[in-house]
Amino acid sequence: MEHQALLENYLKQLHLSSFIDNYQAYAADAARTDLPYERFLLALCAAEVAQRDALRVERAIAFAKFPVLKELATFDFTAVQNIPKQRVLELAQGGYMAQKETIILIGNPGLGKTHLATGLAVAACKQGKRVRFFSSTNLVNDLLSAQKDLRLSKFMAQIGKMDLVVLDEMGFIPFTKDGGQLLFQLCSELNERVSIIVTTNLRFAEWNQVFGDEKMTGALLDRLTHRASILEFVGESYRFRQRLLQEDAEHVGGETEAS
Ligand code: ADP
Ligand code: MG
Repeated sequence: MEHQALLENYLKQLHLSSFIDNYQAYAADAARTDLPYERFLLALCAAEVAQRDALRVERAIAFAKFPVLKELATFDFTAVQNIPKQRVLELAQGGYMAQKETIILIGNPGLGKTHLATGLAVAACKQGKRVRFFSSTNLVNDLLSAQKDLRLSKFMAQIGKMDLVVLDEMGFIPFTKDGGQLLFQLCSELNERVSIIVTTNLRFAEWNQVFGDEKMTGALLDRLTHRASILEFVGESYRFRQRLLQEDAEHVGGETEAS
């Protein structure tokens, strides 16, 4: 009993919390099955490493501040045209981050752009990447208040430390001239240093409307599209389609009942 207390005390000091959780059960198993001592130790270490990995991913996901957690696994690729599953799964492996490439998801609202962007970003978190998700409107507001408080360069430097930044819904709300300029400045700073995933409902020709300034828009697009995977979503709103399908099913159900 004394040994046990001492052992648990040591394990606590060494921050081996899953050892504490597991050692008794694993030791009993090892004794019962005549497992060599090394295998017992290996099993304890494997469980500790797995637990730490899981915690790291959990923290990375919390840090990224996704508005809604979505995984690629729950994305229905049959619901959208011209978004090849294979291509997306390839992107999810994260090679684009090593190359500091951009991913641009374009299309009408409700087609799953934010879902897919979040899924890719969650995959990056699982790979140990530093990820931050921003609604573009909120980000521009944050940039403006950072500028006002004279901490713009610090704020930008923090974002510059990420491996991946998601700029969600670029173009939904037009920016003020100052706001557009700050976003442009940030994108220039991140260019070829941090990967960016942009979701937008705007075709490139319409980006002027959001940034106001033609030259700046041109330069921004030049930076963002320089090395980019562009996925264009075509189709009908997913939720709308689901609702129609549901109504159809109910309708058919109703008819069968009546007959
Ligand atoms: P967008 O960003 O293009 O406006 P969202 O990603 O916000 O669209 O999608 C709207 C809702 O529909 C979300 O709850 C999302 O999870 C769901 N959704 C959209 N497309 C799909 C899809 N292909 N498979 C599964 N869920 C989808
Ligand atoms: Mg969206």
